[in-house]
Amino acid sequence: MCALCGLSGESSAHLFISCPVVSSIWYSVSYWLGWEFVSPRDLLGHFEAFVGLGADRKARNIFSLVWLAVVWSIWKSRNDVIFSGRPFSVDVLVDRAKRSSWIWFSEVGPSSRSGGVRCSGSWWCIGVVGVLA
Ligand SMILES: [Zn+2]
Repeated sequence: MCALCGLSGESSAHLFISCPVVSSIWYSVSYWLGWEFVSPRDLLGHFEAFVGLGADRKARNIFSLVWLAVVWSIWKSRNDVIFSGRPFSVDVLVDRAKRSSWIWFSEVGPSSRSGGVRCSGSWWCIGVVGVLA
C-alpha cells in the first residue's frame, strides 16, 4: 500500500507520478519552473517529457537534475514516513528538492554541464527560469 496516500498499491509509477499526493508535488515544481506540465503515466515518459521542455542543452541538463532531485526527495520522504513515522509534507518535500537540486547544480561547476551559469541558492529557489535567461 502506498505510504503517502494509502489508496493504492505502491508501484514506481504510482509512487513517483500518479499518486494524488505526488501530483501536487509535480504541480508545485512546475509552478516553480514557470510552466505547466501534463504528466505522462509511465516513469520514463515522465522523465523524457519533463526534460524535453528544456529549449536547449543547458535547460535540459538543469531540468534533468531537478527531476532527479524531486524523485530522490519523494523516495526519501516515503522512507521517512515508513521507517521514522515522520509526517509527510508537500512543502517540505518541494523545498528539499529545490535545495538538493541547487547543491547538485552548484557542485557540477560553471565549466561543465551548468554551462557557465552562476547564481545564488536563494535565486535558484525563487525560480530556475532566471538561471536559464
Ligand atoms: Zn499514493
